[in-house]
Amino acid sequence: MKYIGPDFYDISSQLTEEELFVQKTANEFVTNEFKPVVNEHYHAGTFPMELIPKLGELGFLGSTLPEESGGAGVSSVAYGLIMHELERGDSGLRSFASVQGALVMYPIHAYGSDEQKSHWLSKLGTGEAVGCFGLTEPNFGSNPGGMVTKASRDGDDWILNGAKMWITNGAIADVALVWAKDDEDVIRGFLIEKGTEGFTAPEQHGKLSLRASVTSELVMENVHLPDSARLPGIEGLKGPLSCLTQARYGIAWGVIGAAVDCYETAVEYSTQRKQFSRQDEQCRHRARNRSHGARHPWRQRHPQRVFHHAPHGQPRERLYLRGDARDAHTHPRAEDYRPRGVRVIIHSQPWETA
Ligand SMILES: Cc1cc2nc3c(=O)[nH]c(=O)nc-3n(C[C@H](O)[C@H](O)[C@H](O)COP(=O)(O)OP(=O)(O)OC[C@H]3O[C@@H](n4cnc5c(N)ncnc54)[C@H](O)[C@@H]3O)c2cc1C
Repeated sequence: MKYIGPDFYDISSQLTEEELFVQKTANEFVTNEFKPVVNEHYHAGTFPMELIPKLGELGFLGSTLPEESGGAGVSSVAYGLIMHELERGDSGLRSFASVQGALVMYPIHAYGSDEQKSHWLSKLGTGEAVGCFGLTEPNFGSNPGGMVTKASRDGDDWILNGAKMWITNGAIADVALVWAKDDEDVIRGFLIEKGTEGFTAPEQHGKLSLRASVTSELVMENVHLPDSARLPGIEGLKGPLSCLTQARYGIAWGVIGAAVDCYETAVEYSTQRKQFSRQDEQCRHRARNRSHGARHPWRQRHPQRVFHHAPHGQPRERLYLRGDARDAHTHPRAEDYRPRGVRVIIHSQPWETA
């Protein structure tokens, strides 16, 4: 099995069969079930709710968590490949899964009480319940430590007041993990169930990006919570920041998925379009060379250099598959350049630079 995507760096060789299978499963889900509906949801500014149980069934929610915590127990790389594929479909899809897994399931798994774990993790893992993560406030985004949402003690209970902004899944969430400062200014996490008195999650409309994703405000007006709603295992800013660390790992993989999709969409468009045929011919030719680069039989025999035929009347294009980029350009005998172990790809296009 091969890594799905333009495999310039021979990524396939570093992935296990299981990881490649996970990627293939995610790729098929996105291609067959998500892509056909994403345009409609993008224009409407909605999320395809009907696909949530499928995300759970395939193990895409909280994937790295153990099965007893609602996850699928896959490796971090397999999880990254899932995020790669989901974001290849749309950033909103990856965002949904990141929030559910890394920002809601993970903190309940890591910091929750046994009661919170048994009540929420399984439902969140199957997609039966949706969660959201409320950290950002109207006046505190990059600096979450400045938050003003307050959790005041009321005997053994808590009263929450404040507002959160730009919260993914907010309006569709069954549970919101809200971070607030207590009377001593210590940040604590609270699980607020949908329908709790004083708690509302109005949707924010009119986004210019991430349109196929539900984004909301969370408003807490004297929300009365028992102490059992507090995450007992964490206090301080490291609580929400540790969740963001989990999410950022998947987001990084997702970015590559989005970039791959942009690249493939551009290649497909430029190679199928029939205008200015000479220009299109070059695009087609380059795209073919690039996608063949890593698998080209020459690469196995002469990994440092591969020659390709250029269009008629053009100098040949040289593709260096291994070596140092600067040396390959400046070395007086660039064609004799030998690899030093660093693998890079350089497209030399002399007819453009001459
Ligand atoms: C679609 C979407 C979904 C989101 N989902 C969630 C969610 O689920 N949960 C959640 O809690 N939050 C969520 N957010 C909020 C997101 O985390 C914040 O937008 C982010 O933290 C940035 O905060 P901000 O928007 O207030 O920008 P600001 O903090 O106002 O920053 C604006 C710009 O100023 C820069 N900047 C800020 N401070 C400084 C400084 N001191 N020096 C130099 N530059 C600075 C920033 O880098 C940025 O470029 C979401 C946001 C969006 C757009």
